[in-house]
Amino acid sequence: MNIFQTVKENVTARQAAEQYGLKVNKNGMVCCPFHDDRHPSMKVDRGFCCFACGAKGDVITFVADFFHLAPLEAAKKLAEDFQIPVFTDNARKRNASKKKEKPKRTFYQTEKKFEEWERESIRILSDYLHLLEEWKIRYAPKTPEEEWKAEFIEACQQTEKINYYLDLLVFGELQDRIEFLLDSGKDVKRIEKRMEEYRRNNKE
Ligand SMILES: [Zn+2]
Repeated sequence: MNIFQTVKENVTARQAAEQYGLKVNKNGMVCCPFHDDRHPSMKVDRGFCCFACGAKGDVITFVADFFHLAPLEAAKKLAEDFQIPVFTDNARKRNASKKKEKPKRTFYQTEKKFEEWERESIRILSDYLHLLEEWKIRYAPKTPEEEWKAEFIEACQQTEKINYYLDLLVFGELQDRIEFLLDSGKDVKRIEKRMEEYRRNNKE
């Protein structure tokens, strides 16, 4: 589990809103901090949604927007303020097996290799994000009855995750980026294949 998933499993947007001083009424409504709101127009639950200005997202988006932080910074702040241990499974495993390890030998031995991988991953993820934005428009259902196309669903489901990935790679600290490589390197490869497959089947 990565830091975003761990934090989201442990804190709701409602808890965060209360922690950071917003008054949540018993219906879970709160004055929206993202527009000039006099009567509570924002619903806070696991995530949040403002019926007046349309701001919405999960607990991490909420804290990121509230404190003007990048998502990773917001996740770290939440982990700290709510005392959530955010070691990833792999980090735990690596720590547990550290004692037995002989001279350290990782797959990406040199810094240069890591940098190359990083650049390549950022390229793939930006490319994919761009494609998802395109799909959201191209494959959007035109009538309420129309069945949703697979690409449209994929775009709705993946955008937030890919934004996190990119944010982590671009703004994250070295240790987090290395962990990302170990945890999600395969996912990036899968995304690359997915795009190739789509482009093969949809030659323009
Ligand atoms: Zn609002």
